[in-house]
Amino acid sequence: MQTSIIGYPRVGSLRELKFASEKYFKGEITIHELQQTAADLRVSHWKRQQENGIDFIPSNDFSFYDHLLDTACLFNIVPQRYQALGLSPLETYFAMARGYQGEHGDVKALAMKKWYNTNYHYMVPEIDDSTSIRLAGTKPFDEFLEARQHEVATKPVLTGAFTLLKLAKYTGVKQADDFVHETAEAYVNVLEKLNALGADWLQLDEPALVTDLTQEDIALFSKLYSRILSAKGSVKVLAQTYFGDVRDCYPTLQALPFDGIGIDLVEGKQSLELVRRYGFPDDKVLFAGVINGKNIWRNNYKNTLALVQELGGHARHLVLSSSCSLLHVPYSLQHEAKLSEETKRYFAFAEEKLREFAELKSILARAEDPYTNEPYRHNEELFKSVRFLGNETVQTRAAALTDTDFTRLPAFAERGAIQKAKFNLPPLPTTTIGSFPQTADVRANRFSFKKGAISETQYKQFNFDKIAECIALQEEIGLDVLVHGEYERNDMVEYFGECLDGYIFTDHAWVQSYGTRCVKPPIVWGDISRSRPMTVEYSAYAKSLTDKPVKGMLTGPVTILNWSFPREDISLKDSAIQIALAIRDEVLDLEANHIEIIQIDEAALREKLPLRKSDWHAEYLSWAIPAFRLVHSGVKPDTQIHTHMCYSQFSDIIREIDDMDADVITFEASRSDLAIIEDINTCGFQTEVGPGVYDIHSPRIPSVDELKQGLSRMLNTIDAAKLWVNPDCGLKTRGVTETWASLRHLVQAAKEVRETLPLHS
Ligand code: GLN
Ligand code: ZN
Repeated sequence: MQTSIIGYPRVGSLRELKFASEKYFKGEITIHELQQTAADLRVSHWKRQQENGIDFIPSNDFSFYDHLLDTACLFNIVPQRYQALGLSPLETYFAMARGYQGEHGDVKALAMKKWYNTNYHYMVPEIDDSTSIRLAGTKPFDEFLEARQHEVATKPVLTGAFTLLKLAKYTGVKQADDFVHETAEAYVNVLEKLNALGADWLQLDEPALVTDLTQEDIALFSKLYSRILSAKGSVKVLAQTYFGDVRDCYPTLQALPFDGIGIDLVEGKQSLELVRRYGFPDDKVLFAGVINGKNIWRNNYKNTLALVQELGGHARHLVLSSSCSLLHVPYSLQHEAKLSEETKRYFAFAEEKLREFAELKSILARAEDPYTNEPYRHNEELFKSVRFLGNETVQTRAAALTDTDFTRLPAFAERGAIQKAKFNLPPLPTTTIGSFPQTADVRANRFSFKKGAISETQYKQFNFDKIAECIALQEEIGLDVLVHGEYERNDMVEYFGECLDGYIFTDHAWVQSYGTRCVKPPIVWGDISRSRPMTVEYSAYAKSLTDKPVKGMLTGPVTILNWSFPREDISLKDSAIQIALAIRDEVLDLEANHIEIIQIDEAALREKLPLRKSDWHAEYLSWAIPAFRLVHSGVKPDTQIHTHMCYSQFSDIIREIDDMDADVITFEASRSDLAIIEDINTCGFQTEVGPGVYDIHSPRIPSVDELKQGLSRMLNTIDAAKLWVNPDCGLKTRGVTETWASLRHLVQAAKEVRETLPLHS
């Protein structure tokens, strides 16, 4: 049985590419030094795969920034404003990725978007009417030859034509359909080139096939590939899909002359069923994605072998593959010094996954009795062993939940009146989203404490002093609802992970998020519980300093889970409920300590929405929304619950958001066209709203006038009794000066607009 990897991580096991790129951006190393780092990484990645006997090793999966940007540049999809800078190809590439400001001009970066349901972000290719799509680069060929020089035969990988045209943004009149011909010809040229170089296979990634497709989409796909595949020559073409199943186009994929079809049997809920129902053609190779490319747990060989056996009954030619690119998992357990050997046995990062391929291959080679194989038995023991002692208290508590635990009483309108009377806030109350600038001293304090250079008392005292300063300033500038400033938090998820039992942390398990930015998600290891209050001390201290209301600040269960590596032995829903119970206890503790307004952030609620709309409810929202409700359903009527989201694209789930049953929601709106405000108005949204009136992602200080205009626009559609005034997100990445100047303007603008309102009772 042969094995195939869809793609390998690129930044290096110690993030070498990130650090080299950042040095290059700062002018500290030359382009040649950067290129050398990149070349070293590529070779070492190929060699690792080769050592583990991988038969289909990808090339051109490397990227300096993003593979979709690579594809755009390869095909000359470079907007005029970047070409006009007159830079070298690599510099132009970086200008598209990061923007450019210098002697050649001033342009912003291309837009960036989430790569399907992952935390990876791609640069959105921009096509206008003058774009001429054609083969204009050599990257796939160069890397193929480079691998060959190192005696590694590779399968070049490229974003497929359909996915490219689907993800591109069209800024002119012309749409995807108008580019079919030239796009197909560009891919034909790639195939001609690869034929000349003697490549065996070409992998074309078509993740767009796992989304909801219309008849027109399928027609577009067929049109593109009828032409492209006619030029195959002796190169075999693999249509590689991932992140779900291809339920809309499985027959189409089979009917086209692809030589291989790659399907995801991990995330693709219907993948196996499709193979059962439609079978698999004898003249094609099925690349079966059986090893999870997104999660960090060991593969269960017993289950995999059973699956492979069943697939073998349908497909004559079968190759074992990862379910998606390994880009979404960290490199290796090798550098994890903190984790015990016992714990590490359960994990497989990218390198360990390669080992799993090698083992599965050796197990399958002894077809007569694979079960006597040593690695097989080890694996079986691993899955039989007790990984951790479950927390019975949590399990019993979760099992005992009933509908009433998910319902806050009294209903919104009744408690809203109670809260209005209690807080007696002015109309258009002003507040912030939680964090204040994480200046160098704040970070240094946390770092010194982690290193053991200062005592816990010293560490906390520093934070207390910061809080006092922050409260005094908020009072002085006249904000209505204050916050403590979140100085104790490194990150809104990691902080809670560290406080909760059941989480574990790695030293180097970095995963690329975009460009040179990587994230290190914590791992849900066991049942989640809270053994002590996590935020009460700081919030209560802040509250002791002022007569104004102070908002407690928590991260919600869905966001905590979405930014972690989840367990595979229980459902996401069950993990979310456990986290929700822990956060619920924190909410009740805050309330008991006189924190009367509590904000529960769900910044990442939208991120894990299933790729197909038809799955949104059944697979996700049906537990995500209740998990949030569980967190706050136990509070008193006069405790006000806020939530915050970092995006304004929620028109399509607006009902569900209202159904979270918070009292107030703040969200990003300053950068969008405020369309969401229309939707809020028309759908009868009950929750009070604080659409961000200025963009915290830029250091710009908004003027009072412009803030007033923003508020007036909002008041055209939103009832003044429901409107809050706030920036669009936390201020932790901002500088001190611009932050306070902007907030002063915000308070001033709110005051002036209040004057113009008819009197409210
Ligand atoms: N309360 C958090 C903060 O202010 C929210 C962060 C976020 O939405 N990403 O930092
Ligand atoms: Zn935010």
